[in-house]
Amino acid sequence: MLLPHLTGVLVDRVEVVGGAVWMWASPRAEAVPCPRCGDPATRVHSRYERRLADSPVAGRKLVLRLRVRRWFCDGTACLVKTFAEQVDGLTVRDGRRRPLLRAMLERIAVALAGRAGPRLATSLSAPASRSTLLRLVMSLPDPSAVTPKVLGVDELLAQGHSIRGIARGLGWGQKTVQRYARAATWQDIVDGKWKGPRSNKLDPFKPYLQQRWESGCTNALQLHREIVVLGYPGAYGQVRAYLEQRRLNPEAIAPAPPTVRRVTGWLTRHPDTLAEDDQPRLKAVLEQCPELRAAAGHVRAFGEMMTKLQGELLPEWIAAVRADDLPGLTSFANGLQSDLDAVTAGLTTTWNSGPVEGRVNHIKMIKRQMFGRAGLALLRKRVLLTAVRH
Ligand SMILES: [Zn+2]
Repeated sequence: MLLPHLTGVLVDRVEVVGGAVWMWASPRAEAVPCPRCGDPATRVHSRYERRLADSPVAGRKLVLRLRVRRWFCDGTACLVKTFAEQVDGLTVRDGRRRPLLRAMLERIAVALAGRAGPRLATSLSAPASRSTLLRLVMSLPDPSAVTPKVLGVDELLAQGHSIRGIARGLGWGQKTVQRYARAATWQDIVDGKWKGPRSNKLDPFKPYLQQRWESGCTNALQLHREIVVLGYPGAYGQVRAYLEQRRLNPEAIAPAPPTVRRVTGWLTRHPDTLAEDDQPRLKAVLEQCPELRAAAGHVRAFGEMMTKLQGELLPEWIAAVRADDLPGLTSFANGLQSDLDAVTAGLTTTWNSGPVEGRVNHIKMIKRQMFGRAGLALLRKRVLLTAVRH
């Protein structure tokens, strides 16, 4: 049969209506087991039509108009008086989409929950709105967990271990664990700076609001509804106040010029991967500043030590850096000295935080894909659901 999932129904009529295929059908079964007690029900209470969006046929949207029945349950001890029948592989309770179509949309949603999701769905003749795709992702069950062999500090914390407990378990100082736990990037470990928690719940959604605003949606009520779907926990008033402020002061803030971070990026990148036009820029900077030139040499040596797992050279490296007395780098070297065992282990064994970093980058990619507007709950879902495939 052309459509194997339709074996449970009799197709009464097929018509093409406005570019879509409409199919009228009714279930074949003459008795249906009660979902509560399992007794076969044979008395029909009533009939009604359910419209189901099906996976597209030859590029056309397919709408199933299924005439389903409500049955009486005659089970003597059963609490159910009547129930609506479900057709295997075709309907789920209260679902307006066929399981096959739903599975397709779920995959699209997990891969592309941003704007690209609805676009792809539409081009596959299975239109679904952004919020529908988001709801689909959120209702997917988490994949079953595998016991990992190596954990990062963040993961231990996420599992509810205390900092003291982790420090004991790893044989590290509590301050060290605290520093690692608070750091958002490795640079934070180096200079000990990190940003405090966000004071404003709306902040993570501002890029999204900005984008919607620029595309012409300035309705606070509508925008509040949209970001609530994305995970915004706050009230409508805050959104309205923010939009009001934008209305009064519409100039966007100019992006900050690339500075220290940019140079840091050049210094910490593998020299071979430095973009061609960045090479002369880096050279010019280093020529201006002998301290930076010295620092660059140490950074390069450290990078080599890291990639070749030459932890035994670390004390020598620390001594060389201390001798140069460079701001930042010296305190980094001192920090390494105080964690020498852990760092040496990190530089000599193949166990390191690489996989964790990789996962962090993966999460950032997902977040960027959604223009930074993914709420924590949604991010968590997509990370879990994509991780099992990587
Ligand atoms: Zn029953």
